[in-house]
Amino acid sequence: MEPILEELDIEGYHKVVKVTEPSCGLVAIISIHDLTMGPSLGGIRFYPYKNFDAALFDAMRLSKGMTYKSAMVDFGCGGGKSVIIADPKTQKTPELLRAFGKAINKLGGIYIGAEDSGCSPEDLAIMNEETPYLVGLMHEKSSGHPSPYTAWGTFRGIEAALKFRFGSTEIAGKHFAFQGVGSVGEIVAEHLFWRGAKLTFADVNIENCARLAKKFGAKVVSTDEIVTQECDVFVPCALGGAIHKENIPHLKCQIIAGCANNVLLEESDGDLLRERNILYAPDFVINGGGLINVVCEIAKEGYCPIATRNSTDKIYESLLSIFQEAEKTDCSTVKAAITLAKYRLQHEIGKRPYEPCFHHSSNKVTS
Ligand code: NAD
Repeated sequence: MEPILEELDIEGYHKVVKVTEPSCGLVAIISIHDLTMGPSLGGIRFYPYKNFDAALFDAMRLSKGMTYKSAMVDFGCGGGKSVIIADPKTQKTPELLRAFGKAINKLGGIYIGAEDSGCSPEDLAIMNEETPYLVGLMHEKSSGHPSPYTAWGTFRGIEAALKFRFGSTEIAGKHFAFQGVGSVGEIVAEHLFWRGAKLTFADVNIENCARLAKKFGAKVVSTDEIVTQECDVFVPCALGGAIHKENIPHLKCQIIAGCANNVLLEESDGDLLRERNILYAPDFVINGGGLINVVCEIAKEGYCPIATRNSTDKIYESLLSIFQEAEKTDCSTVKAAITLAKYRLQHEIGKRPYEPCFHHSSNKVTS
């Protein structure tokens, strides 16, 4: 059976569709926030949301974040995200994945899907039977795992924050407190370790955390204690919403710079951090390396790790200019980053000059 796409009337978004296919139990949302720079690109998240509205809220919030994130890199993509309301451990079937692939295809390329929480490259390979509009697939021209690039961008972002706050990128002797040491967090920690950092970790995955603490000589604290550790840099590398108005008065760090998406529960938390003189590296800028990596896959000339690394490296300069602008205009770093992203969108700086090339796929575009 064909999936049914029902457009929801949502102001400020290019197109938000509810996707259903009753025979396989598919209920999903594809949220396309903005197409100014090019086709929207964003991960496909599998999550057992408690209801449709919670899923819609997440998809809309994440796709808007992707618009800003994409606007900050010169790769010509808009903001999109999709969520499949299902438990990835128990409700994922090939039929459901194929039905979702068909739904993506029906949109004709204005949304390009990628891996996200609960969705693996193997899942993408099944969707790819129905649509070419995917990145991050396993094939010879693939960009591979994005985590090393996200981690490198995060590391360079940490250096930018150190430079701005302390006048030097020197890492030796500085104390970094990690909330979450998963795929990205581990690599960031490794970059810091070799430059002489002092590390503290907390992770709900106690075994992995203990293994990594041993590897890097890190101290381990509980997940409740990590946010308020006395440290130079708090490095959020777990889930969103780590920083909020309840815990901001208790923070004992100089800088917050990590890879997690949606670190601040609310945008206004950026103002509270500023009042406390805590320098915050906006998440959608510092964690752009993963996006840069997958987008490079659809370049005309195909994926190139050197070009990807060099582009990811620019996160250092982007963040420095955001910190400087925030200081000059007396606003939070989040506001400065959003203002810059909006300016780039308004003036179409970084707009895609040509159609994306799906090197991985021989599928005919059938939309
Ligand atoms: P991951 O799942 O590999 O790692 C997350 C880690 O956080 C896990 O070890 C998990 O056990 C831990 N964790 C979960 N809840 C926690 C809590 N309350 N306290 C402490 N630890 C907790 O994910 P990842 O790929 O490393 O991504 C980390 C963050 O970075 C996510 O927010 C993700 O959205 C964001 N991000 C990742 C990429 C990428 O390339 N992987 C790109 C951009 C943004």
